[in-house]
Amino acid sequence: MARTTLDGVTKRFGDDIVAVDDLSLEIRDGEFLVLVGPSGCGKSTTLRTIAGLETVSEGEIRIDGRDVTDVKPKDRDIAMVFQNYALYPQKTVSGNMRFGLEMTTDLDDEEITRRVEEAAELLDITELLDRRPRALSGGQQQRVALGRAIVRNPAVFLMDEPLSNLDAKLRTQMRTELQELHGELEATTVYVTHDQTEAMTMGDRIAVLESGQLQQVGTPMEMYYEPANEFVATFIGSPSMNTLDATFDGEHLQLPGYTYELTEAQREALSADLGGDSVTLGVRPEDVVLADEPGPRTTEFVASIVEPMGSENVLHLRHEMGEIVATVSGGQRVREGDRVRVSLPVDHVHAFDGETGEAVF
Ligand code: ATP
Repeated sequence: MARTTLDGVTKRFGDDIVAVDDLSLEIRDGEFLVLVGPSGCGKSTTLRTIAGLETVSEGEIRIDGRDVTDVKPKDRDIAMVFQNYALYPQKTVSGNMRFGLEMTTDLDDEEITRRVEEAAELLDITELLDRRPRALSGGQQQRVALGRAIVRNPAVFLMDEPLSNLDAKLRTQMRTELQELHGELEATTVYVTHDQTEAMTMGDRIAVLESGQLQQVGTPMEMYYEPANEFVATFIGSPSMNTLDATFDGEHLQLPGYTYELTEAQREALSADLGGDSVTLGVRPEDVVLADEPGPRTTEFVASIVEPMGSENVLHLRHEMGEIVATVSGGQRVREGDRVRVSLPVDHVHAFDGETGEAVF
């Protein structure tokens, strides 16, 4: 069991910077948890506190039930993989993979060799074992960095943007490989990225951070369909969810030039949960529908930009209430300047409290 828990973890740098703010999070045994958020939100610092590379200002970290808050990195039973690989240039691949074991364990030579060979096979780098890092491609170097972590057979893998130095194609390929590797090793993994696509495709669960604070943790589908607040709603998903300022008059949502009819349940939720009367109406680009007929939730927009993407078109649509993006099938011909009738389907809209950003539905 390698459950890892953070309990009220805060990390301050000096008096002014709170990099991680009262973070409580449980990483389940064997799960692949992705920490995601914009630059500077505290992802790396969180990972480094789990690794023991940063001390915490407050709170507690436990790995496999053991309080490791004040334990040295080498005694935490973790292995970290960095963005820049951090390989020793003078050592061979095999030397790089052996080094950590030689320095921090009393395993005999034979056992170290066995582990290195096993990891090399798993990563398909056996034929590279005698080369030095400069004679390797970026993807190969990344595999070696992974190999060095795997040979340690740690309770927890910690990975800080390990794929960000690779080109787009290799990154996609390595994503799949990492998932396969995780499937084989079933090791608890905490993976940091700023890329929401990477988070969505790789994570068993995703934790979204903003300003050092946990916004939501859940499966990719939960984050997508049931975002806890406007920040998560607009951060997860590409293109981003559209948001429009509206006012709740007790009956409908009023937007400039558009009255949005609510269901009974939506009306009740807004009446119960809303602080004031301001609401942010959210709809994902893929949920915007081009309507043939006028209807209770339809209104006309003007197509300002049309981006053909092949199987689908991305439309930028302008209206008095604001601009929205819609992704529609490539077969739906729309030209720039066209007036298009748009419906925001009642089953797919989200509403956030305009003041707090918290989701109402
Ligand atoms: P990125 O995606 O850009 O790497 P991040 O989400 O990993 O960002 P962190 O590197 O954890 O963010 O940084 C969180 C905050 O803490 C930032 O405001 C950063 O400037 C600050 N910070 C991080 N390390 C230090 C440090 N050693 N000294 C002072 N401030 C720091």
